[in-house]
Amino acid sequence: MNYSHNKRTVNIYGGGSAALILAFELAKSEKFDIHIFERNKALGRKFLVAGKGGFNLTHNLEFKELSKYYRPTEFLDSYLQEFDSVKFRAWLESIGISTYVGSSNRVFPVKGIKPIEVLQAIMKGLEGPNVQIHHNSRFIGFEDGVPIVKQEEKAVVCNADFHVYAFGGSSWTKTGSDGHWLKIFREEGIKVNDFGAANCGLEVKWNKDFIKEHEAKHVKNIAMEYNSFGKKGEFTITKYGIEGNAVYPISSVVSEALKLRKEVSIGIDLKPQLSYEAILSKLDTSIVNKRSVTSALKSLKISAVAIAMLKLNCTKTEWTTTRLLGTKIKSFSLSISGHRPLEECISTTGGISSKALDSNLMLVQKHNHFCIGEMVDWDAPTGGFLLQACFAMGYCLSKRLEAI
Ligand SMILES: Cc1cc2nc3c(=O)[nH]c(=O)nc-3n(C[C@H](O)[C@H](O)[C@H](O)COP(=O)(O)OP(=O)(O)OC[C@H]3O[C@@H](n4cnc5c(N)ncnc54)[C@H](O)[C@@H]3O)c2cc1C
Repeated sequence: MNYSHNKRTVNIYGGGSAALILAFELAKSEKFDIHIFERNKALGRKFLVAGKGGFNLTHNLEFKELSKYYRPTEFLDSYLQEFDSVKFRAWLESIGISTYVGSSNRVFPVKGIKPIEVLQAIMKGLEGPNVQIHHNSRFIGFEDGVPIVKQEEKAVVCNADFHVYAFGGSSWTKTGSDGHWLKIFREEGIKVNDFGAANCGLEVKWNKDFIKEHEAKHVKNIAMEYNSFGKKGEFTITKYGIEGNAVYPISSVVSEALKLRKEVSIGIDLKPQLSYEAILSKLDTSIVNKRSVTSALKSLKISAVAIAMLKLNCTKTEWTTTRLLGTKIKSFSLSISGHRPLEECISTTGGISSKALDSNLMLVQKHNHFCIGEMVDWDAPTGGFLLQACFAMGYCLSKRLEAI
């Protein structure tokens, strides 16, 4: 490793989204020598995995609205304010990646730009002489507080002026983020929280006949809620339970609750576009016209699969009493018995406690050691919020390091 004497050295451990923008921004300055230590043969593997799905780079919202989607509240505010989705899109534009706002405010690269091209555009900024990328270099611990990296069976002590950790969370381990660092940091006396599931499917013990008939069907235009968390959207019936954009925003709070209870009930509004009163009046009209309950529900544009769910969960009296059926439609209760394994989650909660960091993302207990990205314990739904926060943390840290 070459360390120059007149520049300040920044060692970045982990080469995912948060690390990439940090290195990109630092590389513009003459002040730094930047070393990236990545355990894989390539950088940005999870970024590319995200690209295979929706690839929502960010969510087109002004800071005040944007910040409402993150927990713990206020922790990320200063970074999101300094680098909100407008600034992120402008930054992407500046490296040749134009974006557009798609349905539900999600931001994507314009058609024709592949995820690998976005990654390559960022990597171009790391081609200068002041950036050295060390592949197959795995952080394995600390020696007297200094990070050690394993390279070709050799343990190398990595001295630097600044150390930045960007190891990601603990899902999709084939991308590199296996969460092994958590134990090491805990042993170092740093406040960490155990990993938890976020943005994942939830498990339901379906009736056998129901799942046989309805597996893979979508229930659209509903609203899902647990403990005041929730969103309008849709879900898909899967063999093990439910998946989809209405499920992910509540998945971390439900997973948290499942640590204390075997089952948790979530609420589903099967007809959020209509008030309870409007539903009752439509159901009453159907009954006057002597329609069956099923055709009355169909005339409300409730899907066959939602009707089947209702029927299974209603007593005969509930099914035939307009008032009670209306209540079931507006607040259908679904029992959740588990969450999908961490490995399958789009993101994880847990990691470095936000309380372990100061307002510059520096570990309170370790001077000039910083943490960014998903390895820090914050949470947000899918839809661009995750990458937005990772990029904001990386970008803002570059400015803070320049200012030190
Ligand atoms: C299927 C899927 C789809 C997604 N889709 C979206 C989306 O559309 N929009 C969105 O906003 N977000 C999405 N995400 C989430 C988003 O990709 C992550 O939140 C984000 O990439 C996290 O960035 P990071 O830099 O914190 O960590 P990562 O990108 O995970 O990078 C961490 C890096 O650290 C390296 N590392 C780990 N341990 C060590 C070690 N001991 N030594 C050295 N290196 C190490 C890893 O190999 C990895 O390269 C998706 C995630 C998944 C899994």
